[in-house]
Amino acid sequence: AASSAHPIRATLFPGDGIGPEIAESVKQVFNAAEVPIEWEEHYVGDKVDPRTESFLTWESLESVRRNGVGLKGPMATPIGKGHRSLNLTLRKELGLYANVRPCYSLPGYKTRYDDVDLVTIRENTEGEYSGLEHQVVRGVVESLKIITRQASLRVAEYAFHYAKANGRKRVSAIHKANIMRKTDGLFLKCCREVAEKYPDITYEEVIIDNCCMLLVKNPSLFDVLVMPNLYGDIISDLCAGLIGGLGLTPSCNIGEGGIALAEAVHGSAPDIAGKNLANPTALLLSSVMMLRHLQHNDKADQIHNAILSTIAEGKYRTGDLGGKSSTSEFTKAVCDHL
Ligand code: ATP
Ligand code: MG
Repeated sequence: AASSAHPIRATLFPGDGIGPEIAESVKQVFNAAEVPIEWEEHYVGDKVDPRTESFLTWESLESVRRNGVGLKGPMATPIGKGHRSLNLTLRKELGLYANVRPCYSLPGYKTRYDDVDLVTIRENTEGEYSGLEHQVVRGVVESLKIITRQASLRVAEYAFHYAKANGRKRVSAIHKANIMRKTDGLFLKCCREVAEKYPDITYEEVIIDNCCMLLVKNPSLFDVLVMPNLYGDIISDLCAGLIGGLGLTPSCNIGEGGIALAEAVHGSAPDIAGKNLANPTALLLSSVMMLRHLQHNDKADQIHNAILSTIAEGKYRTGDLGGKSSTSEFTKAVCDHL
């Protein structure tokens, strides 16, 4: 268990746009909950660091590697040539191979569905995002979809491990192996191999188009979903929409050696930045995922419940949820619920 003698050290990237405001909200809530934590704050630089070929400094990457955990606000990738995108740099340098997004209906915040409780796990390093595109001849281009046994086994292992560790009953592999016989076929083969090691967890395979139809018709059919990169990109946003949008959805990236980098899924929202209007819920819930990863489950539950109570009470809601509260009023309400 945590004690103030051994504080958690975590890297914090407040990020751009609304990032600093919602990061401030997390710091206040952690203070109020007396989480023994020391944040190492890192900002995106204003020039390219040759060691990372991006605006992220080597020191900030080292900080995440050393701490093993971090929380990241939205980062707007600077325009211009000669640098790698920030998210790509983080993904590559930290080996962030799985993106985990829990989606559950928030009590008291009405959407079309009341009973969503699922988790999407997206392979984050290959598939259609390998960046291998070229022109074959004029008027014909080619994009290579790479699926490897190693990356597929790794994400499948994580999905089943997650399911078991979180008391989940079923893992669904999402695919299009009827058409992409080789690539998605290999992905499924790896999922099957891992499934055999987890006899207590039901394993099923669902074709992506059917999966979309079922998710919209009845999301409560699903529990844990694991899938290659592009399908994960699309399905995870679809699932965020089921519960009320990007302002509410947390996520966590899992990397090599047990690194966890939690982040909100929304962008930097330049239209409302600096106005004390942003909803900090997604980043707060992401910070809860970070605490759970560290097995600080008491603090995680406490903060989680305070956020849910504040939203359920309905007195303090930010504009995106139809309310009139500022970021700081909402944050104060969460602290009061602790
Ligand atoms: P970026 O280029 O960084 O992705 P964007 O212009 O695409 O920025 P998003 O952050 O993706 O903007 O947001 C899209 C819309 O959702 C914007 O109108 C924004 O104000 C709103 N929005 C996003 N996140 C939040 C939040 N946490 N609270 C309130 N509104 C939000
Ligand atoms: Mg955006």
